Amino acid sequence: MIVDIHTHVFRPEPDFGPKLQADLMRCGVDQTVWGNVEERHLETTRAADVAIVFGLRASATDWNIPNENVAAHVSRAADRLLFFASIDPAEPEFMDELEKCHQQLGAVGVKLAPLYQGVHPADPRCYEIYRYCVKHGLPILFHTGTSFVSGVPLDYSRPVHFDAVAVDFPDLRMVLAHLGHPWEGETIAVVRRHANVYADVSALYYRPWQFYNSMRLLVEYKAEKKVLFGSDFPFTTTADSLKGVREVNTILANSGLPAIPPDVIENIIHRNTLELLGLPNPKLL
Ligand SMILES: [Zn+2]
Repeated sequence: MIVDIHTHVFRPEPDFGPKLQADLMRCGVDQTVWGNVEERHLETTRAADVAIVFGLRASATDWNIPNENVAAHVSRAADRLLFFASIDPAEPEFMDELEKCHQQLGAVGVKLAPLYQGVHPADPRCYEIYRYCVKHGLPILFHTGTSFVSGVPLDYSRPVHFDAVAVDFPDLRMVLAHLGHPWEGETIAVVRRHANVYADVSALYYRPWQFYNSMRLLVEYKAEKKVLFGSDFPFTTTADSLKGVREVNTILANSGLPAIPPDVIENIIHRNTLELLGLPNPKLL
């Protein structure tokens, strides 16, 4: 089974505020290639058996995607999509939002983005979310690593901050997205220490030199079992990501550099993500 652990849906027109639009423009992100994000999501995620879907709520950087919209989207293909609630700890009623998403909208996990939300992962508000997630067995996927957004401290995205969270919440299942790029080494140092901390390879293959090096680091630290497949739709698609991950050795040409073993690549793609994160199989729901 192939699980895409990392896909977004949104409607840029109502969901993105002016500050976010300015950041996207400044960094040259072309939104026209996304087309109709929701329709393309339904179509392109078929390249996986199951896809995890979330929006993003982050008042500090102007993301305002209603969880209701994401839950409604997931219900259009409930046999292969799972909903994660995006919770913004900077919103006054964030715990009510989490309870509503979990108890009424069918969320089976949570998406947090400390950098986008301008809230440190060790903030007491985050700890409230962690306690709820441990109590109810919900995994959390964190954005880690850099991003185009401005006006918030990049430090909040450093993978090393999740080490202390894992020490305080050893039972909390966590996924550090994008291998924490460009701090992949730091991410590997964290995931190999904690039984319930994983990372995903979303949005990495199109920086082929860095991706190859990250995959070698994973092999050398014997940490590849802690890594899950993901795409980061609509910034890429599930199929393009599968292809890009499988082509990680193309950059080597005849350089004599050591290849990533094919079984390491296929094992990441076919990782038993649902089981590892305690998620239901939507095909059996
Ligand atoms: Zn993402």
